Amino acid sequence: MRYRASALGSDGVRVTMESALTARDRVGVQDFVLLENFTSEAAFIENLRRRFRENLIYTYIGPVLVSVNPYRDLQIYSRQHMERYRGVSFYEVPPHLFAVADTVYRALRTERRDQAVMISGESGAGKTEATKRLLQFYAETCPAPELGGAVRDRLLQSNPVLEAFGNAKTLRNDNSSRFGKYMDVQFDFKGAPVGGHILSYLLEKSRVVHQNHGERNFHIFYQLLEGGEEELLRRLGLERNPQSYLYLVKGQCAKVSSINDKSDWKVVRKALTVIDFTEDEVEDLLSIVASVLHLGNIHFAADEDSNAQVTTENQLKYLTRLLSVEGSTLREALTHRKIIAKGEELLSPLNLEQAAYARDALAKAVYSRTFTWLVEKINRSLASKDAESPSWRSTTVLGLLDIYGFEVFQHNSFEQFCINYCNEKLQQLFIELTLKSEQEEYEAEGIAWEPVQYFNNKIICDLVEEKFKGIISILDEECLRPGEATDLTFLEKLEDTVKHHPHLLTHKLADQRTRKSLGRGEFRLLHYAGEVTYSVTGFLDKNNDLLFRNLKETMCSSESPIMSQCFDRSELSDKKRPETVATQFKMSLLQLVEILKSKEPAYVRCIKPNDAKQPGRFDEVLIRHQVKYLGLMENLRVRRAGFAYRRKYEVFLQRYKSLCPETWPTWAGRPQDGVAVLVRHLGYKPEEYKMGRTKIFIRFPKTLFATEDALEV
Ligand code: ATP
Ligand code: MG
Repeated sequence: MRYRASALGSDGVRVTMESALTARDRVGVQDFVLLENFTSEAAFIENLRRRFRENLIYTYIGPVLVSVNPYRDLQIYSRQHMERYRGVSFYEVPPHLFAVADTVYRALRTERRDQAVMISGESGAGKTEATKRLLQFYAETCPAPELGGAVRDRLLQSNPVLEAFGNAKTLRNDNSSRFGKYMDVQFDFKGAPVGGHILSYLLEKSRVVHQNHGERNFHIFYQLLEGGEEELLRRLGLERNPQSYLYLVKGQCAKVSSINDKSDWKVVRKALTVIDFTEDEVEDLLSIVASVLHLGNIHFAADEDSNAQVTTENQLKYLTRLLSVEGSTLREALTHRKIIAKGEELLSPLNLEQAAYARDALAKAVYSRTFTWLVEKINRSLASKDAESPSWRSTTVLGLLDIYGFEVFQHNSFEQFCINYCNEKLQQLFIELTLKSEQEEYEAEGIAWEPVQYFNNKIICDLVEEKFKGIISILDEECLRPGEATDLTFLEKLEDTVKHHPHLLTHKLADQRTRKSLGRGEFRLLHYAGEVTYSVTGFLDKNNDLLFRNLKETMCSSESPIMSQCFDRSELSDKKRPETVATQFKMSLLQLVEILKSKEPAYVRCIKPNDAKQPGRFDEVLIRHQVKYLGLMENLRVRRAGFAYRRKYEVFLQRYKSLCPETWPTWAGRPQDGVAVLVRHLGYKPEEYKMGRTKIFIRFPKTLFATEDALEV
């Protein structure tokens, strides 16, 4: 493949900087659309491999950027690199994240349409790194807002804070985001960033109380213990050694070689100041962090009636102070359950197991609500300060979506169910925005063509989210029958309600052959990206996410400024049953889809090259899976099946009219007729192009390249 072939953008803009590309840049094809054997997955992966070997981690599928995590610093994100990609057309320079960044920004500026960059991929594939590089690009290259550049710092500094509280070391990634994130950056009419807004999704709060072997709790705990000043730790009643805290020892890996908690602590402390935290607020926040550690060390012993009693007085004392609650109330709440029956309050003592459950539930609630509070607090700091100024009214928005990819583990539970549902929704959106709109454009332009077959995953989204009949509805129904329903009755109800569905299998619903591979407490979903078997154990509990009433009451009485915002008395009203976790998640996803739909989409598809987190290793099996999960082959097929390039007649004529004596220097008739004359003169064959209502469609890139070449002569 000659390089010239990829020197044109799908917008047909000419290459002017060919010299900017070295021989190394040209390894393989820079756009999969140009692969001779475009239906072959092997050819696709071979192209990725060849480029990866040369540290060329970026390749396009038309406008979609595919990125392979290099696991090494390639020195390709400097200010110089940013400059190289500014204002040039997509294909003038080697594929790069900054090319996407710049294209998106220019579309935002010139078309004044909101944009959204959707970054997907599995854990460790490089989504968060990409998001950070994009933000950095905008912070460094966009003009400064009229009212100073503080908002740029805040946009950048919100990151280390969110990462400290929402990221953790997992087996897959030393800095794994344990929440989904959508961030809007608002630009004024001059293209300066003036504000931002963050939405967060489903923090993995179970991590607060339990970590698998080789994994850690959220970074902030270790940062505080490692970096916190003596005096601060003394006030919080903390010891420096993470081994002292039961919530930090489960994974047995407090120290991670790639992480420097001490220096990260400094970064976070500074960032908190930038995002408008006062010293008092920092102290309040850290008090909550410390209280979670103390909670984890609360021990119970059984009295003669097998009722749990708190035995760790010192921890209780610190907790009382840090959470600003009454000691006796907290003690009682940790060891009793309040039940309201026939208008009367009854206190029922908890046994050891129940008390431990209540304690952990409180720790999870305190931490996750603090995280939500933190996001809101950051949002207040990012809110455009010049809301009154006229420029506010003409803001445009650029969204960055960094959200968990499809997950298939040995053991899949409620969390994977939610995450994979989220991926189904995003795939559905991708289909709507890309595949469908592509076909619709041909229809609107009156162009005859063979529709490309693609799998529409709406059927799976419906299976999960449909009212009454969907999995979430059935699960919620079972959650309404406390005491009677169990995870297994949920499964039975699911079987009875859904019966036969091409995308759902259970032990009962499967045929002889498949049945063997399914346990009795499992269901299998045939996702667009592959099959996943979920164990129903814990589904009800996780979906209900109950916090005993008296723990809630205790927290509502807290005088801690943060806790009093996190726990609201209205929750105590019997009339208001809180939405279940799955339903809340579903609603937030529907909202996200609406937000994304209203924007022009751009896609970055991230791939993780190996499980060892090492540079230079290209694990083909692993990569093949991801190519499948990310739907890349289908994406390419649709892209190739249609017309690679399309341009409005006016624009096409304007650009190429010099190539034909009849259209040069001006064409008096309709642009469409001018283009017809022009392409006839250029010798386009009938199968190479089609004339639509407003645009010319060119099937193969090479046709346009030849025309471009003619321009240069
Ligand atoms: P998760 O879903 O677990 O949050 P992720 O997709 O956000 O995963 P990142 O945290 O962005 O993954 O990347 C994991 C690690 O890979 C980074 O900490 C970094 O070491 C490395 N990495 C990712 N992208 C790049 C890159 N472009 N250049 C160099 N190293 C990278
Ligand atoms: Mg991440």
